[in-house]
Amino acid sequence: MPVNIQNADLHCHSNVSDGTLTPEELAARAKANGVELWALTDHDEVGGQQRAAQAAAALGLPYLSGTEISVTFAGETVHIVGLGFDVADPGLAAGLARTRGGRELRAREMSADLERVGIAGAYEGALKYVGNPDLISRTHFARYLVEVGACRDTQEVFRKYLTEGKPGYVEHRWATLDDAVAWITGAGGIAVVAHPGRYKFSANEEYALFSHFKDIGGRGVEVVTGSHTAQDYVKYAGVAAEFGLFASRGSDFHSPSESHTDLGSLPFLSSGLSPVWEALSERVQV
Ligand code: AMP
Ligand code: MN
Ligand code: MN
Ligand code: MN
Repeated sequence: MPVNIQNADLHCHSNVSDGTLTPEELAARAKANGVELWALTDHDEVGGQQRAAQAAAALGLPYLSGTEISVTFAGETVHIVGLGFDVADPGLAAGLARTRGGRELRAREMSADLERVGIAGAYEGALKYVGNPDLISRTHFARYLVEVGACRDTQEVFRKYLTEGKPGYVEHRWATLDDAVAWITGAGGIAVVAHPGRYKFSANEEYALFSHFKDIGGRGVEVVTGSHTAQDYVKYAGVAAEFGLFASRGSDFHSPSESHTDLGSLPFLSSGLSPVWEALSERVQV
């Protein structure tokens, strides 16, 4: 692995989950934006990993395997990023397949809920945006709601629909934190708490999340991500220090027309943090 990497981008989505670009297009965009180490982290899915790694290799872009697992913890959805695992690990594959399994039924229930507020055909409409039939997500519904003029953009959709208490929101039970961390570490990877600044936890609940995560073998936290404010960067640098976690950095880029944060465009990790990629040097594909 090249030394002194700063512009690592270890969180983004392709059309194998809810992004709009292919793994190859993302690799090219990462390279063009000066990313020095890249990971594709599709939701609950590793189907794009081989393509991403091959495209990165062809561009001379160092690559780490990745995924983002949906977890239910203390009644909230929490995302756990896995990095540097064996993409062929059967335990991880089975766990991800199980996690994806509930999406289809949830989507049909979301559609029925939207129908009650006058938005018809949302399931079929969302499907038009789906690149992977196993992975219908709220993002695909958001694109359909923009298409039919229910909202101006996908951000507005999430404000008015599809989130807790709003039409189209369907409570769902994802993987457990223990299972997600075990699948990632069992496949030789490192588990990282994604965008902790986004969760609506009390201070006690957040403490419980990180202490339990650490106890079960979790090793990293995203400090610099597209959904954090500058204050969050400082807060979660403190959390990394407090719990002895490696720090990660990733844009969470989904789409050129929807995402505020492009690949490779965020501030670097502050000095004093231990970058997660330093613990994964053996796993980097160059
Ligand atoms: P799902 O896994 O189907 O529940 O969908 C979660 C995805 O919806 C996230 O990964 C984001 O891509 C997207 N999302 C969630 N909240 C928002 C938001 N407020 N604005 C835009 N996208 C969002
Ligand atoms: Mn997403
Ligand atoms: Mn996420
Ligand atoms: Mn993400």
